[in-house]
Amino acid sequence: MSITVCVVCGDSAEKAYPVGSFDEFKCPNCGYYSVDRQLIDEMEAADQVFDTERTQQYLMIHSRPGQVPAITRDETTNHQLIVEST
Ligand SMILES: [Zn+2]
Repeated sequence: MSITVCVVCGDSAEKAYPVGSFDEFKCPNCGYYSVDRQLIDEMEAADQVFDTERTQQYLMIHSRPGQVPAITRDETTNHQLIVEST
C-alpha cells in the first residue's frame, strides 16, 4: 500500500497492489475500485479526468460483495465518465 491521489475525486487514497493490467485504489470517498492502468496514462497524456459524481455513482452501482468494481475504457465511454480537465 502506498498513499496516492484518488483518480476519481482527487482526495488522498491508498494504492493497493496492481492486479493484471489494473491498479487498485482504496479511497474513503469512492471506496475500493480498480482502473485500467493504460487508461490512466492515456487520460493524463490527454489532460482528461474522471467526472467525480458520475464515476462515484458508477462505482456504487457496480460494487458487489467480494468484488472490486473495475473502470475500463469501454465503461468510461458507455457511461461518459471522462471529462476534459479544466
Ligand atoms: Zn476518491
